[in-house]
Amino acid sequence: MPKYIFVTGGVISSVGKGTVAASIGKILQSRGYSVDFLKIDPYVNVDAGTLNPYSHGEVFVTDDGGETDLDLGWYERFLDVPMSRLNNLTTGQVFQEVIRRERAGEYLGQCVQIVTHVTDEIKRRIRLVAERRGADIIIVEIGGTVGDIEAQPFYEAARQMKLEEETLFVHVSLVIYLKTTGEFKTKALQHSVNELRRTGIQPDIIVARSERIIDEPTRRKIALFGTLPKEAVFCSYDTDVIYEVPLILDQQGLGDYIAKHLSLRNVQSDLAEWRRIVETFKSNGPLVKIAVCGKYTALTDSYISIKEALKHASAYQNARLEILWVDAEKVERDSIEEFSKLEEAHGILVPGGFGRRGSEGKIIAINLARTQDKPFLGICFGLQMAVVEFSRNVLGLKGANSTEHDQDTPHPVIDLMPEQRQTEQKGGTMRLGSLPVVIRKGTLAYKLYESELIHQRHRHRYEVNPAYHQKLTGAGLVFSGLSPDGRRVEIIELPSKKYFIATQYHPEFKSRPGKPEPVFRGLIAAALAEVKIKDVQVKV
Ligand code: GLN
Repeated sequence: MPKYIFVTGGVISSVGKGTVAASIGKILQSRGYSVDFLKIDPYVNVDAGTLNPYSHGEVFVTDDGGETDLDLGWYERFLDVPMSRLNNLTTGQVFQEVIRRERAGEYLGQCVQIVTHVTDEIKRRIRLVAERRGADIIIVEIGGTVGDIEAQPFYEAARQMKLEEETLFVHVSLVIYLKTTGEFKTKALQHSVNELRRTGIQPDIIVARSERIIDEPTRRKIALFGTLPKEAVFCSYDTDVIYEVPLILDQQGLGDYIAKHLSLRNVQSDLAEWRRIVETFKSNGPLVKIAVCGKYTALTDSYISIKEALKHASAYQNARLEILWVDAEKVERDSIEEFSKLEEAHGILVPGGFGRRGSEGKIIAINLARTQDKPFLGICFGLQMAVVEFSRNVLGLKGANSTEHDQDTPHPVIDLMPEQRQTEQKGGTMRLGSLPVVIRKGTLAYKLYESELIHQRHRHRYEVNPAYHQKLTGAGLVFSGLSPDGRRVEIIELPSKKYFIATQYHPEFKSRPGKPEPVFRGLIAAALAEVKIKDVQVKV
């Protein structure tokens, strides 16, 4: 029988529930249990695909094409188990199904209500995760903060499940550290525990999120107000390496405590390999600076998988990483500050994006990378803008553009994919999810992937216009990756450059600590070579 661990959050959103949920998963996985997840997002959107990354962070794309919450990215990076669209549940999905059933007459004669119709649907979706892969333990993370109006049906469903299944409730809440007096303040946490109790849920475990490790009196106080033994209180304190959190929590006995409470066979956890990987993130090696030129750089959560993929690749090659966030719109406005970051960087990355705003700035950044032969990686929109830059400045096609920005361009080198022309609906209608990419032998892509066939995740509506394929390749642009039918460009590269590669797919979603994604690994390797060249220049 599957067992369910519910993770709730208190005091503030972004308290670190996702990391704690992923860490619990990692600890249990390291004890030989199979773990699956459900992230609940109480907003009414059906999925994260229609949310602004600027306010909500990145949209994480799953193999099966789900446009999901970024916490699924943490689950994948920590456990290296692929998530699916079913691992993310929103209020929108719940209501869509309940209303569909009501219209189909499945509740004929009944008054359809939050309790029990909506809560039953929530419980069905939670159990569906357990059924799908038959995991031993399902970790259900309820997004937002306890007390949020929109989350109430989910807490109610969780409360009911306590009666029906073997469950464990973990409450993650903020403890404020007052630097001036050196004190830990727990009042806000106490209030959040009370708020949780008002929903009928008594936590079994409290994880105090804090700047530094809480002291014994604070731990006792949290236990006392939480009506828990002090062994049930843990602390997740700030660390530079997020992947260290499972080690921090397991060292405090979290794995043993959960095993006891869920009557699991208490096997010793084996986190030795994970510990070795975590150590690589504390490297003292050379510093590589990578400029990421995008539109949402003020909220770096918008690029969280890219940030982590760069970290994985750097740690793997014993390098320290500094990301220089470059605002594409400011580049457009000739900002000297943003330009100097592009100049200073050992490599430039242009990530995915949508719309005209900032696109010319990205083209300028790509032009700088190409003409100065700086290592370059373009992703999705980054590939598309690299093709525009090449068309304008190498092929001499004046005004070349993507029809996403300019319907009347004389040279639509990037154009809507034919099947997208019939699509009017916005949600979940892009070319999405894992698809095969055929790699040409003898190319940089082949050197990186060492395979003629890879599978990568996609999220786009536009592509390199087939009418321009010949012109582009004729001028030296290599299409090193294509869709199996040969008509869709997946990877481009410029063999005359040290490292100039771009992908239509999103490689960042498949990068893991200890297993960096090849195009990121290649970018850091090429950037490390630049560090060495710069060092020699400084010495001369
Ligand atoms: N806007 C572009 C498209 O729809 C690129 C999308 C992306 O970068 N994810 O094709």
